[in-house]
Amino acid sequence: MQFLFRTASTHLFQRSFYSTMFDTQVLKVVPENFTFKKSIGTDEFSELNANSVISTKNDKLAIEKAVEWLKKGEAVGIPTETVYGLAANALDANAVSKIFAAKNRPQDNPLIVHVSSINMLKSILPDNTIPEVYLPIIRKHWPGPLTIVLPTSQLIPNSVTCGHPTVAVRFPSHPVARSLIEACGFPLAAPSANSSGKPSPTLASHVYHDLQGRIPFILDGGSCNVGVESTVLDGLRNPPAILRPGGLTYEELKEIKGMEQLQVYRKDFVDKELEMAPTTPGMKYRHYSPEAMVILIDRKRDSKEFEENFEKAWKEELNAIRTSGMVVSKIGMLRTTQEGKTATWETISMVDDQTKCISLQMGRYGHPEEVARGMFKGLRELDGRSVNVIFVEGIPEDREGMAVMNRLRKAATKVLEV
Ligand code: AMP
Ligand code: MG
Repeated sequence: MQFLFRTASTHLFQRSFYSTMFDTQVLKVVPENFTFKKSIGTDEFSELNANSVISTKNDKLAIEKAVEWLKKGEAVGIPTETVYGLAANALDANAVSKIFAAKNRPQDNPLIVHVSSINMLKSILPDNTIPEVYLPIIRKHWPGPLTIVLPTSQLIPNSVTCGHPTVAVRFPSHPVARSLIEACGFPLAAPSANSSGKPSPTLASHVYHDLQGRIPFILDGGSCNVGVESTVLDGLRNPPAILRPGGLTYEELKEIKGMEQLQVYRKDFVDKELEMAPTTPGMKYRHYSPEAMVILIDRKRDSKEFEENFEKAWKEELNAIRTSGMVVSKIGMLRTTQEGKTATWETISMVDDQTKCISLQMGRYGHPEEVARGMFKGLRELDGRSVNVIFVEGIPEDREGMAVMNRLRKAATKVLEV
């Protein structure tokens, strides 16, 4: 069944918007069954040009199925180490349009192109050349949760770059994603596989929840290890800058040769042009937001009585929300586990005789990589339990905390500091 909608005249939505209904199939794969074998020879990037070996028949069949859909020009849900991606042939404008349609993504938000080897990267760059500045970074941090901004070429459709002179590229380390891209033989454009504006998916079930019927196929490779999107680095500007904080930390990037002056967009500088273009920190759109109202309760750097202040703050907020006329039958809490305490994923209690409280733990305080892994999952889980309001605890912006706080600030309707 096909539906065809044409929106009238606005420039951004001129392209026809359609969605095909599918009976979405989900197939499991086991990441441990995928390995990579270096080619023999003197290739400078032999590790990064290694070939995939799949040890089991079932995994091979699942990859073949995904390749079949991708070669037909459809969009497919795939696991990556950051979050699940919604992938399509990055060199085929028609395939790329399926991503925008399935997610309902604004047409002016560019996509990241995923490659599975340095040879594939070179094949899409002008003169097949990687800018010098990226070489030490690629050697150290690829494959991994890092996207780099590169000059684009004729091969990349405008819908991927949204007309920018640059293209953002990543080499994922997830063995399933890497093997799949290699099997396709073309790079995959892939934003997060959520419905636009919603929290990113870290499980195949999240993708199914958002996109069932809109895409033909999802590869289920279990949970994503990093849990937040990649870091977007623009090394072509001087000084280089992180446009979006993500899985690879500022601290790690800054150690690389040439990155000594590394800046973070919005923290260290703001650029008028970037502010207008949604290539960057996503000012323009609502992001990462569950159905429930999210209130972020952040800690002041030197706040010693955080626990007490946190409780006081959410109780006051809850009263204010009730006074405004909203009926609150269920609230959710997303907390960190304090060092030395045992992590219980879920605690249910009553606030009073009107309101139930479901409290979930994202990860241990002081372990931002754990919080990153648990954050989107927690937001989605609480939405699934139909809570009206989510109170989420802020963490320090060190290491992965920078990406966590970037996402939580965008998801929140209100930020309190206590
Ligand atoms: P996502 O939807 O999470 O995959 O986000 C893709 C993001 O990658 C965009 O919103 C930008 O932040 C970034 N991005 C993609 N293409 C470019 C580009 N050409 N220049 C700068 N940033 C980009
Ligand atoms: Mg996204």
